[in-house]
Amino acid sequence: MRRTQVLVAGGGPVGLAVALDLGRRGIDCILVEQEDGTIFHPRATALNARTMEFFRRWGVADAVRDAGMPQDFPHTVLFVTSLTGFLIARIERPHHGMGKSSDLSPERPQRCNQIWLDPILRERAASNASVSLRYRCKLETFEQNGEGVVATVLDRDADVRETIAADFLVDCTGGRSEIRDALGIAMNGDPALDYNVSVFLRIPALWEQYDKGKAALISFVDRNGVRRNLIGLDGRELWRLGLRGKEYFDRSRELDVDALVREMAGKPIPYELLSVRRWVTHDLVAERYREGRVFLAGDAAHLNSPAGGFGLNTGMGDVVDIGWKLSAVLQGWAPPSLLETYDVERRPVAERNVRQATENYRSSRYGIPPAAIVDDSPEGERAREEWGDRILRQETRTYVTDGTALGYRYDPSPICVDDGSPPVPDTISEYRPTSRPGSRAPHAWLSGGRSTLDLFGETFVLMRFPGAPPTHALEAAFSERAIPLNAVTIEDTDSAALYERKLVLVRPDGHVAWRSDDLPPDAGEIADRVRSPQRSVSTSR
Ligand SMILES: Cc1cc2nc3c(=O)[nH]c(=O)nc-3n(C[C@H](O)[C@H](O)[C@H](O)COP(=O)(O)OP(=O)(O)OC[C@H]3O[C@@H](n4cnc5c(N)ncnc54)[C@H](O)[C@@H]3O)c2cc1C
Repeated sequence: MRRTQVLVAGGGPVGLAVALDLGRRGIDCILVEQEDGTIFHPRATALNARTMEFFRRWGVADAVRDAGMPQDFPHTVLFVTSLTGFLIARIERPHHGMGKSSDLSPERPQRCNQIWLDPILRERAASNASVSLRYRCKLETFEQNGEGVVATVLDRDADVRETIAADFLVDCTGGRSEIRDALGIAMNGDPALDYNVSVFLRIPALWEQYDKGKAALISFVDRNGVRRNLIGLDGRELWRLGLRGKEYFDRSRELDVDALVREMAGKPIPYELLSVRRWVTHDLVAERYREGRVFLAGDAAHLNSPAGGFGLNTGMGDVVDIGWKLSAVLQGWAPPSLLETYDVERRPVAERNVRQATENYRSSRYGIPPAAIVDDSPEGERAREEWGDRILRQETRTYVTDGTALGYRYDPSPICVDDGSPPVPDTISEYRPTSRPGSRAPHAWLSGGRSTLDLFGETFVLMRFPGAPPTHALEAAFSERAIPLNAVTIEDTDSAALYERKLVLVRPDGHVAWRSDDLPPDAGEIADRVRSPQRSVSTSR
């Protein structure tokens, strides 16, 4: 029987990231993936700034930036009658892409499809000595007790079954998780909001065939509504044509791709069909994220409409939360009760993001436009103007989502110490930096081109700003409990103003655990509180 500390089931982006994060923390971990890791059909492309911040922490941000859309390819969104037809709306997104940073984050949202992303995560995960990645290995069954989890894994090439014993199992097997089903964990919500077909195409330099400039996302408005879109993948030649509706889904094998491409381009153009895949739009969140020693992460825990691009991004948030908590328990500096907070902190974030994705999906169902919308006539012009205004109003919330990406917070959380300050409004488009406990610790540049975010990831970090009292007692309390802590003094007054208090304690995942202008009367109480929920604290919401 093989032994490991954490068995990760599923080698999609979330499972790979769990292995990567645990490996960096020196945790022994085996990942089993039933397939060989080749991606034949593109899914996620949009990586938000928070995900890029995690990638920066894991040392893969540069590789991701270089692998996806070229830096100078605009993330512009167009609504058109056809590529050579009328422009109805244009949404520019100057804060996306490019090598530059914004005021809010050292990283910008990027577009890097899983075709390129997954191999980058795979290589980085495999570079950790404590990580073993096993492809073509399917987790078939598992049992758990108070001591650990024992799983049977089938090596599909050798046709041999093996038993793996682990302290914990993280289920990253995606939306159809059999592990989740075996645990009897239900998914709450709507299992089928809509039906779709995705067509993977090669069309070199498509933008040279029309007059509206380069764009990453193009939606088509025709007499049937807005049901087709084209997503740029590599900024050169690879595209995904999305088709929404049951009639496409039911006839995915008989699609007239020639006609679809011709209608989209407004004229015949050469293309190569690479693959066709059907998929269903969901609105689902698992009723709980944990059963004993098994944790759900990524699509195994939540499934949403791609409108807004939240699925993989929400999964990366799960990874960063479960990673430090499992490590803390396995390394012995936090009690197992810390693991209770994974569900408490992460499930509400998924509920928020899934709800928003569903609202985006619903608001993008524009209904049937006036037939004249495709006509070169005053009536057509009027229809396009009206629809353009409507589209701009509705789509901003889908495509400008700094609040969703950076503003999620653990509030209330039994391991974040509420300081009684009012919460910052949780909005979709706008992110307002705050060090209120539970929030993402904000970004500010430090000397040498480092961000405050570069301080976080491995240990707790005690940030001391000008005027902070001596912190020996707090440091001693952490040291007595063997909780890793790095105390950092920051003289910069802009950072001090941004962080709002003279002392700010940040967790290994980069969320604020506690803040104050003064030392706490009982430093030990703070050290205990941030690594373990105290029974007196209510976690109901
Ligand atoms: C058309 C489309 C566009 C999307 N665009 C975006 C986007 O722009 N941004 C975004 O954030 N998200 C997007 N998403 C969502 C995103 O693709 C998913 O959220 C993401 O892939 C989930 O990753 P995962 O690792 O949790 O699951 P998956 O990618 O589904 O991986 C699960 C893995 O587990 C393996 N597995 C299953 N069972 C077993 C078993 N028993 N043993 C071993 N291995 C097993 C599977 O083979 C698979 O490789 C999109 C989705 C779709 C359909």
